[in-house]
Amino acid sequence: MSSIAENFQHVRQLINQAALLAQRRPEEITLLAVSKTRSNDELRLLYQQGQKHFGENYLQESLDKIAALSDLDIIWHFIGPIQSNKTRPIAEQFDWVHSVDRYKIAQRLSEQRPASMPPLNICLQINISHEASKAGCLPNETEALLNEISTLPNLNVRGLMAIPAATDDSVIQKSALADMQTLFTHLKKQYPALDTLSMGMSGDMQIAIQEGATMVRIGTALFGPRQYPTSKNSL
Ligand SMILES: *Cc1c(COP(=O)(O)O)cnc(C)c1O
Repeated sequence: MSSIAENFQHVRQLINQAALLAQRRPEEITLLAVSKTRSNDELRLLYQQGQKHFGENYLQESLDKIAALSDLDIIWHFIGPIQSNKTRPIAEQFDWVHSVDRYKIAQRLSEQRPASMPPLNICLQINISHEASKAGCLPNETEALLNEISTLPNLNVRGLMAIPAATDDSVIQKSALADMQTLFTHLKKQYPALDTLSMGMSGDMQIAIQEGATMVRIGTALFGPRQYPTSKNSL
């Protein structure tokens, strides 16, 4: 078996174990394979194992992959930073966007979503660790943003996404993820259709599942360490 196939089995196992430990059903948790910097062949290999959801960060790189893999029924998620003048190809070619953190971007995505396609699935990115230079809407501004964005016709707001600050302190790590769950539960009272809490990466997927994640975004644990960062030019 290839290492990607082995890694896939292993990650599935970790998700199942974490779900059972949290007294949740494993089917409640969707595995999103984060495939930035990976080759088309690597994506194909993982797809052949049964993986359908793939997440990409860099626009040009992702458009090349979507074209090269158009024979596969992949569900594409955009999870990287969004420049407002680059929203059109995202609106036209992706199924999900996890990194919406301001109204202007959401409005453009809605306007540019082709009428022939189903509404674009959206997660609001939350700056849950209140980091000064980090993307994301602040937790106490999320409800107002959600109120605005949920009126846009061609979007389907599904939930929240977060990338908590990197830390070795498991208490801090856990509390950021728990804060996300609290915010999500609060917003669900007003918007019962919200069903997606996108959090948990290779290093914290088990804790994230314990804290209610419904979608974990996994790169390294599936594909191995990233060899080289994608340069800024590829944005
Ligand atoms: C790269 C990335 C991931 C995956 O991180 P790993 O640690 O490799 O699992 C998840 N989410 C986002 C937004 C990313 O950019």
